[in-house]
Amino acid sequence: MQDLAQRGASIDLDGVHLSYGDTAVLRDIDLRIKGGEFMTLLGPSGSGKSTLLNLMGGFARANAGEVRVNGAQIDHLPPNRRDMGMVYQNYALFPHMTIADNIAYPLKRRKMSKSDRAALVRAALAMVDLHGFADRRPSQLSGGQQQRVAVARAIVFRPQILLMDEPLGALDKRLRDEMQSELRQLHEEVGSTVVFVTHDQEEAMVMSDRIAVMNGGRVEQVGTPHELYSRPRTTFVATFLGEST
Ligand code: ADP
Ligand code: MG
Repeated sequence: MQDLAQRGASIDLDGVHLSYGDTAVLRDIDLRIKGGEFMTLLGPSGSGKSTLLNLMGGFARANAGEVRVNGAQIDHLPPNRRDMGMVYQNYALFPHMTIADNIAYPLKRRKMSKSDRAALVRAALAMVDLHGFADRRPSQLSGGQQQRVAVARAIVFRPQILLMDEPLGALDKRLRDEMQSELRQLHEEVGSTVVFVTHDQEEAMVMSDRIAVMNGGRVEQVGTPHELYSRPRTTFVATFLGEST
């Protein structure tokens, strides 16, 4: 098994531009994410957060510019071969599979003995506090528990990079608060680089090492929560951080 405390990969974007037809969705994006960092993409709906995340995952392609992971351009490997886990807002669990099979799914493509696979699934279940749920189906779990399964599935092979697109958006406030601290803790344990998407500035402030504030397809400012709060560089950043949802 891999060392638990491995360091995550760096992600670098240089001059990235992406359009759908005539509509520019990402404009001129330069962003450096350090290995092991918890980086949040924060911005209103339609600002390009999901598109940027999909680009980092290799699920979309830029019209111009470069995306590099640990210094290497990412598009030479198909998405399913990259060392990345992805969590979506709607969990996207397979309803007909047990929890254990859902979590084991990303391991199927990797050559691995049955017992190694079972050990990784058990470890992932333990990390998200779901011992004893292995044989249930998704429909028998609450929303918060299903989201934990989605996280367990994304971290089961201890990816160098964990991409999360509004993973807590569908949860109520209490569960969201609880999952926020669990995800932070998990980040410390697994050591992956995390790119976390949210439109909720309070969530971004409590969870992130750094935040990239997005607006209209651009990154307006990148900084620690403290830097953004005390020295917003644009009116948009100041206003957006000042709003509460
Ligand atoms: P966010 O995640 O911040 O809400 P998105 O990245 O989903 O923003 O979308 C950014 C913009 O790109 C939106 O205006 C959206 O309508 C547009 N867009 C996203 N995907 C497509 C697509 N496949 N075709 C055309 N426009 C798209
Ligand atoms: Mg989105």
